[in-house]
Order: sequence, then C-alpha cells, then structure tokens
Amino acid sequence: MNVVVLSGGVGGARFVRGVVDVVEPREVTIVGNVGDDLEVLGMHVSPDLDSVLYALAGVADEQRGWGRADETWHALGTVAALGGETWFLLGDRDLGLHLVRTQALRDGEPLSAVTARLTRQLGVEATLLPATDDRLRTWIATAVGELPFQEWFVARAARDEVDGVRFEGAGDATAAPGVLEGVAAADAILLAPSNPYVSLGPILAVEAIRAALERRRVPCVAVSPLIGGRAVKGPADRMLARLAGGTSPAHVAACYPGLIDALVVDERDAHDLAGLGDVRPIVARTLMRDADSRRALVEAALGGVRA
Ligand code: GDP
Ligand code: CA
Repeated sequence: MNVVVLSGGVGGARFVRGVVDVVEPREVTIVGNVGDDLEVLGMHVSPDLDSVLYALAGVADEQRGWGRADETWHALGTVAALGGETWFLLGDRDLGLHLVRTQALRDGEPLSAVTARLTRQLGVEATLLPATDDRLRTWIATAVGELPFQEWFVARAARDEVDGVRFEGAGDATAAPGVLEGVAAADAILLAPSNPYVSLGPILAVEAIRAALERRRVPCVAVSPLIGGRAVKGPADRMLARLAGGTSPAHVAACYPGLIDALVVDERDAHDLAGLGDVRPIVARTLMRDADSRRALVEAALGGVRA
C-alpha cells in the first residue's frame, strides 16, 4: 500500500513515525514543508524536513520535540561569546547536518537530492521529499508588519496575532522530483496533524501539488491538530480562531476545500461535527504520546481509507 503524507515539523514527525510502523516504510513518501527554511549563520536550515528526518532516524529529542537527542551547544556558545546571532538555536550534532546540506546546495545540488542522500545516510527507508526545490518562504502579516516566518515563530515566540499568511515564491514553484509521481502512485494520501496554515499551507500553495490532490482518485484523509479545540502545541488554535472564525472540526476541514474526503477528529471534539459537508468525520484518540497511540491514530486514519 503506497501512502503519501503531507507533513510539517513536530506534529508531522510524530505522526510519520506511526505511519512507518503501520505501512511498509519503503512504500511511504513524505512531502515536507520548506516554507520555514532559513539562512542562519550562513547555513541553509530546513527545520521541518529535519524534524521528520531525525524522527524517522530515531535520533530526535522527544522531550524538546525538535532537534537531536544527546545534543550539546558548544558551537552556539562560541557564537554567543563572539557576538554572533543566537536567536535560532542550533545544537552541535544538528550543525553537522546543516554544514553538509549547505555545501551541497552551494555546489548546485537540489534540496531534494541532498535530502535523499541525508535520509539514506541516516538509514531511513521511507522517501522524504521537500515540496519543492524552488525557493518558497512563508511570511506572516501582523500588527507590527509582515515578518519572515522564523522571526515571528522563534524570535517573537509567535506572540503576534496573525492577520494573514503569504508564500513567497509559491506562484512559480514546481513540485520537487518524485512528489507528483508519489501522489499519482498513492493508494492513500494523509495530511498529518500539522498546522494547516503555516505547515501544510506552503505545501498546498505549490499549484501542481494542490492540483494533483484535487484530481486524486484515492482517498485523502487529514488528521486534526486540535484536541478539545486547542492545539497540542503552537499557534494553530489561535490562527484558526482568527483566520477561519473558529476551532471546530468544520473550521479545520475548511482549510482543505475539495482536498480531503475524511477528517480524523479527537473524541473531545466529537460533539461538534456540524458543517463538515461531504467530509466524513473519523472519531479517534489523537494524542500521540507513545508508539502505541501513534500507531492507533494512523490505523484510524487508514481505516477511513479502507472503509
Ligand atoms: P511545526 O512545523 O514544528 O510547527 O509542526 P507541525 O505543524 O507539524 O505540528 C504542529 C501541530 O501539531 C500543532 O498544531 C499541534 O496541535 C499538533 N500536534 C502535536 N502533537 C500532536 C498530537 O499528539 N496529536 C494531535 N492531534 N496533534 C498534535
Ligand atoms: Ca514548521
């Protein structure tokens, strides 16, 4: 069974670990968000791709939810002592990957090719693809002006309310090699419980990817990132309240018009299934606290496919 998963960082990485427990990893293709990518200290960092990569390679820091386990911070300490920029945290183990990727990109290798090499080197069997090899960057409109994604998310801790989201470069971006082929060969498409606006939004802003999902002949199932109307982590609930007018399952589904056939909603949101239209609700426990709960959530989502 070939499965394609559209994924952001933390929530996506947790979910994807469950997917490769349920589906043969070689038959799993993950399409990752690159709208969060940035240059830090001269290096190209792809935070969402790396969260998925580290999770699948079994080297992620599960407590923190991002970066690598057993991390140390000596390089960043030196940067601080020398008056360099330290707002974006990069650990020593993490840095090694950014060095390799940055050099490859400077030598002209596309991001998808570098990513494929990194996943192989780390022993990951699933296919991890950036949505696009082209430059695509998320901008956040706020009362203090339009901010680059990471300035809003990390430097300002996502405290500014969001008035709008823009994906620079999306209009001209083409899908990375393998993305459209993966979708065409899929028996099921899953949207991870990632932030609909800033994690899955940039992927769906690539016109060819959105069109491929619109044309799908196989079920597409999204998993809500909200439990009891609240995000498990991050600003998704505040963004939905402000940009969509609410945090019900119908508000989540409305982020994916014409793109999904079913939405997995948490038991705690099952009292409010009005307004879903032809999107079928699948009620499940959606908190991913360990391997069993991750697997059960994926089974529930795929149960929606088999039904
Ligand atoms: P980011 O790129 O690191 O911000 O990560 P994502 O966008 O992939 O994931 C963030 C979203 O994951 C948040 O909206 C969370 O509510 C959601 N999330 C995190 N853990 C869980 C979980 O265990 N269950 C569900 N349903 N959502 C989760
Ligand atoms: Ca992200």
